Amino acid sequence: MKQTALSLLSVACVAMGLASFATAQARPFPGPDVQQIYQHLLPQIEKIPAFDHHAHPGFADDPDIDAMASAPDTSLPLRTRDDNPELIAAAKALFGYPYDDLSPEHAKWLVAKKTELKKQYPGTAYFNLILDKINTESSVANRAMMGNYLDPKRFPWVFFADSFMWPFNNEREAARNSDEEVYIPLQEKMLRRWMQQENVNQLPAKFSDYLEFIIRVLADNQKKGGIAMKFEVAYFRPTTFSDPTREQAEDIYQHYSSGGIPSEKDYRTFQDYIFRFLVIQGGRLKLPVHIHTAAGIGNYFNFSESNIMNLESVLRDPRYHSTTFVMIHGGYPLEREAIWLAALKNVYLDSSLGELIQYPSAFKNTLKMWLETFPDKITFGTDCFPYNEVLGAEESYWLGAESSRTALAAALAEMISENEITEARALELAHAYLHDTAVKLYEGKVH
Ligand SMILES: [Zn+2]
Repeated sequence: MKQTALSLLSVACVAMGLASFATAQARPFPGPDVQQIYQHLLPQIEKIPAFDHHAHPGFADDPDIDAMASAPDTSLPLRTRDDNPELIAAAKALFGYPYDDLSPEHAKWLVAKKTELKKQYPGTAYFNLILDKINTESSVANRAMMGNYLDPKRFPWVFFADSFMWPFNNEREAARNSDEEVYIPLQEKMLRRWMQQENVNQLPAKFSDYLEFIIRVLADNQKKGGIAMKFEVAYFRPTTFSDPTREQAEDIYQHYSSGGIPSEKDYRTFQDYIFRFLVIQGGRLKLPVHIHTAAGIGNYFNFSESNIMNLESVLRDPRYHSTTFVMIHGGYPLEREAIWLAALKNVYLDSSLGELIQYPSAFKNTLKMWLETFPDKITFGTDCFPYNEVLGAEESYWLGAESSRTALAAALAEMISENEITEARALELAHAYLHDTAVKLYEGKVH
């Protein structure tokens, strides 16, 4: 009797078109088939052309690959160091590197090989070739300025918006520690470049003109192909933003735009206003706002002051509902909390860096937890970056893409084996994460 009822139920499920969902109850362990499912999924996942939502493509000697630079004596986590042997595997896969170590003598081979390829694939062809080799259709170039050796059709630009928050005398800001001593002058340089771009010789006398100048930079960068603005503000100050009035910000601007060192409190108040102003412009201009939300390099990165959850009051502010936010690096190592911010319709998580800092066995668990919570709100990125003169963004691209694809296949294989999803659904989720979800945010501007 019971059996009959059950089989009737399954007939009903099929009739109702529910056959594509897993029919049994989810179980807490994968079955012995998990490896087999993984082996079956991986080649299909390797074939999906990816959109890399966060990367710093460029050559090691190009100062524009970021708006900041590494501070001295940074201690890098194990897997991101340039002696990671997986980078040799990357060089083998990309360039046919014939050695099993990177001794100076052998490294010369790799440098020569890349030089030869750059001649064979001149101009923008070289980095396009790298994308082809890792099956990435296009990759964000989050750079200070674009390089003429990157094809804008395949490398959409994400520019930096932090520098508008540091227009005054920054002596005290830079003196805070040896990290800021490196970072703050580079923000000043970035602001000068925006001023040059707009033919502005000095800070406007009126605050309203300063805000107009900011809008002009955003609009012009958008015309130049910029698809989003990026903040790495967590490196320079806490990410708790108060909500000052325009009058408060204007008073501070009038006081310090022509000189003088603002108190930390005044400077922060001014910055809080400008940050929120930029967020509003991002909604108005349809320029998504990317924000660095992970632990950072340097010795003075203050994680408790700059962790992703500090941004919750901004993200959950209804005034910004038309701004799209992308949480770059998915809040790592608070990725478990971070996924709940993606409950907001306009908030997305990017997984870049997580796949380079963690090994695939750990990154798999991050992806699985995200896929089980808000699978339609997560996007793939590598955060690729040149390591040194020998190991470049190329190897980093490869390691990021390979790690993400294998971790994704493993997460989905477990989910299938644990009766959470079907294979068809797994492949839909893979397409969404690797490509579709991010591409939809830019309304036809990227592919
Ligand atoms: Zn980055």
